[in-house]
Amino acid sequence: MASAFRNLKLVSNMVFGRGSFHQLDEILAPQRKADAPMVFLVDHFFEGKPLANRIPLRGKDKIIFVDTTLEPKTTQVDKLAQNLQAEFGSISGVIGIGGGSALDLAKAVALMMKNPGSSADYQGWDLVKFPGVYKVGIPTLSGTGAEVSRTTVLTGPTRKLGMNSDYTPFDQIILDPELTKDAPSNQRFYTGMDCYIHCIESLEGTFLNEFSKSYGEKALQLCQKVFVEKTQWDDTSDDQLMMASYAGGMSIAYSQVGVAHAVSYGLSYLLGTKHGIGNCIVMNHLEEYYTAGVKEFKWMVEKNNIEIPVGICKGLSEEDFDKMINVSLGMKPLWENALGKDWEKIMTREKLRVLYDKL
Ligand code: ZN
Repeated sequence: MASAFRNLKLVSNMVFGRGSFHQLDEILAPQRKADAPMVFLVDHFFEGKPLANRIPLRGKDKIIFVDTTLEPKTTQVDKLAQNLQAEFGSISGVIGIGGGSALDLAKAVALMMKNPGSSADYQGWDLVKFPGVYKVGIPTLSGTGAEVSRTTVLTGPTRKLGMNSDYTPFDQIILDPELTKDAPSNQRFYTGMDCYIHCIESLEGTFLNEFSKSYGEKALQLCQKVFVEKTQWDDTSDDQLMMASYAGGMSIAYSQVGVAHAVSYGLSYLLGTKHGIGNCIVMNHLEEYYTAGVKEFKWMVEKNNIEIPVGICKGLSEEDFDKMINVSLGMKPLWENALGKDWEKIMTREKLRVLYDKL
């Protein structure tokens, strides 16, 4: 029987502060094993950029620029892990540097260095058998909460689902707000809204408790500072959004996300829509579920001069709609959090079909 209260596994070590990236070499030193390199999985956005030259390489250490154009796939994870095993045998650790996709890839590759088979075998809850190698997360975009989560969301052959386990959280995270300052403003907005949506879904959900509420309210307030109150982006915006992402991640870690995530998983499974923008596309049409949140969301879109795509489901076949509906309705805990125990009576296939049609 499942325990009544979840025993939440947290990230073991955390550094926060502008310029804390400089400490990476010192942090890695005690984790280095003889003849086993550190492997840096870096978002391809940084190829040829100054950050890539600041990575503290020693010995056989390797930088791999990872393609994050689409959401991470189980095939991509398996290939990275197999290549590293073939090249080095064992490695000391994996360091993910980038947005949510790079962080999730790093977590998954670290796990697959020590677990047999394919990462697709471990998509689900508590299926991972062995701890992976040492892993570090260094976000360069704020909002996903991937730096604190116990999952790594992957698109597999039959589903889009995380490797959700106590072995999944990072051993170390480095939160350096300086690293987010050069992110493209559209991308920064979409990813920031992922955090805003985490807060709304957590705070409006039936799983809410005082732990999640405390973090959710703080994260929401920080998002509002950055995207509602300020007239332009400044250094404190980077600091505030980085802490919003952390707190928003902590909030959903002990509650759950809701309607926007459940519906956007269907989009990204079928169309490869990235998580942040996918959530925004869905949130735009959720007045019925999150009235005040959607109103404020629309105001932030307008104020920050952002374009949210519309009509992305135009021309899809009935078979395509069925696929999205199946993926979405498979996210049972999300729906239960959003709509309560009787969610299946509320969110029927027909109702979801109408919603996808609007996107
Ligand atoms: Zn999210």
